[in-house]
Amino acid sequence: MNTHTAFSALARAQAQPNPLLDFESPARFDEVKAEHLEPAMDVLIGQAQAALKEVSTPEFKADWHAIELKLDVPVERLSRAWGVINHLNAVMDSAPFRLAYNQVLPKVTEFWTQLGSNDDLFAKYAGVQASPLHAHTRQALKLALRNFILGGAQLKGQDKVDYALLQEQLAQLTQKFSENVLDATDAWFYLADVTELTGLPEDVIQTARESAQALSQEGYRLSLKMPCYLPVMQFAQHQALREKLYQAYQTRASDQAETSALVFDNTLVMKDILRSRHKEARLLGFGHFAALSLEPKMAQSAEEVIDFLATLAKRAKPHALKDLQDLRTFAKELGIEEPQAWDWTFVGEKLKEARYAFSEQEVKAYFPFESVLKGLFELIQKLFGVTITQALAPVWHEDVRFYHISQGADLIAQFYLDPFARQSKRGGAWMDDAQSRWLRPDGGTLQTPIAHLVCNFASATSTTPATLTHDDVITLFHEFGHGLHHMLSRVDVRDVSGINGVEWDAVELPSQWMENFCWEWSVVEPMTAHAVTGQRMPKSLFDRLLLARNFQSGLQTLRQVEFALFDMQLHSQAQAVEDVQALLTRIKSEVSVIPTPKWVRSAHSFSHIFSGGYAAGYYSYKWAEVLSADAYAAFEETMTPTGAFDAKTGERFLQEILQVGGSRPALESFIAFRGRAPEMDALLRHQGMSETVKSTSPHA
Ligand SMILES: [Zn+2]
Repeated sequence: MNTHTAFSALARAQAQPNPLLDFESPARFDEVKAEHLEPAMDVLIGQAQAALKEVSTPEFKADWHAIELKLDVPVERLSRAWGVINHLNAVMDSAPFRLAYNQVLPKVTEFWTQLGSNDDLFAKYAGVQASPLHAHTRQALKLALRNFILGGAQLKGQDKVDYALLQEQLAQLTQKFSENVLDATDAWFYLADVTELTGLPEDVIQTARESAQALSQEGYRLSLKMPCYLPVMQFAQHQALREKLYQAYQTRASDQAETSALVFDNTLVMKDILRSRHKEARLLGFGHFAALSLEPKMAQSAEEVIDFLATLAKRAKPHALKDLQDLRTFAKELGIEEPQAWDWTFVGEKLKEARYAFSEQEVKAYFPFESVLKGLFELIQKLFGVTITQALAPVWHEDVRFYHISQGADLIAQFYLDPFARQSKRGGAWMDDAQSRWLRPDGGTLQTPIAHLVCNFASATSTTPATLTHDDVITLFHEFGHGLHHMLSRVDVRDVSGINGVEWDAVELPSQWMENFCWEWSVVEPMTAHAVTGQRMPKSLFDRLLLARNFQSGLQTLRQVEFALFDMQLHSQAQAVEDVQALLTRIKSEVSVIPTPKWVRSAHSFSHIFSGGYAAGYYSYKWAEVLSADAYAAFEETMTPTGAFDAKTGERFLQEILQVGGSRPALESFIAFRGRAPEMDALLRHQGMSETVKSTSPHA
């Protein structure tokens, strides 16, 4: 740190002893302590509440800029400080910090609820509609009004009471659903004999032995939790053991579970959830829950989604049948004449090993973190004409780096990169916005975006540098895709700049689009440098990676389509569905090529749609894949024979997708970039399903 920055840091600390109340950028992450949380939040919530009160009075003018100046300034401060707290809670957890966090959490949540359901504020925004507005502001206003309406703001009298009651019931029911799944999973165990465990990885056997010992039990205690269930299905030679676990797993939380576990049956909970959702949708004026769920999404209607899924199923089916035939043939080699439901994963794993054997360690040695990062930055700089340079800023841990993104002489964005796993840091990888682009109403200065990019890669040891698996490389590119969407924004209205206001089923477009580059030899080769020899990765190894990527993609696609169709059909009937199982059976018979035993009850533990946020939204996984693959195809089509990307295509992606963010509908942006609506051919081609497959079944 040079003298100048040291001086200004000191000056800032003197001017504002609580770093959470200092809104100079970048934030003073290194100084925030548990004792700063409550005093800062009390001040900021107090200011935001006072502003909300003033804006809600009849005298306050229904004017966008007046509301922005009075209310959005203190609300943005609150959310920025809360962002710092949330971030530290996720990456630097400690007992005192967690305690302080939990103390302020209810106050903050309460304020957000107040803000989102304030009838007077809703009326004020509605009053703004008639005034002339910039297109971006109009879009922000439209989204604000929609969120109020979806939150029940337009309801009156008894309807309003009923709506609140339904919300409460749904919160309890979905919680009950997930508790039942969790409890049913936890309650089940099987004490296996060592002879039943042949084929299982040593660490799984060891864990099973230790969990039995911990309870003074004999043998090996197997459970339905993923780290045990999955290896059993993949590797256990003992067919009867696979059958036992499969049956228990597939009947969890259902009427088909063992008698002692029937207390966890979700049958009635599911019915109640579907009825409540249906009522909720009807109260808000929608025909069914799917229509309500799709309102803030890119997909227009349940019919459009169902058509999309049916087309995808039709195109994937011949490939799935071919995958299935491969499995059947290979099963015979393993001595399994007529494979059962609990055999497919096992056979698939063995076939994959036989076809593409390579070790994760072998691949990992070629991807030192530093050279991958260098390759990624070079790609971004070349594609979008920006410069990325490391810079100084206060950080929360010595591993964290801070960067500037500039275009010419202009600083357009900044980001923190926190790449490595450590104690007290939440797992997984994510992008978060620390600050959004905003032409500030107070003073008229342009606030530029700041992003957090967080990963959990294995760090260097005393003797080896940090290296990444190919999956890690994909994760890094994925998060940078979100980051670019946030940071390269050119929209000045905060609520629709960056990823703000982007439709839920389109928000993964830039992130999944970035993943494609990890399958491009011209991008991958230069970032490889063997950790010991420094050599580039051999092309033959990369080719095996590519082949393994598409292993059984036909069957996998059908499986995803089956889940997504079931979810959409379940939520788009004129009446709430009463017989969930009958609907699932019908969908399976239409889509799946692998027979399922009659007693399977997979819906009863389908937490994504019954207790997660994916109700009438499961299709979005495939939907976003189609968008990102098709967008990437524009780069493939214009690539030079040496594998260089076309600068004009990069510029168009920047201008039409990344820079516009949520300021217009995602479909409009896509068409502006691609010159047409999205098509699924590119996705099928990337997943090895483009060529015509000769049907192996008369039903294909
Ligand atoms: Zn993502």
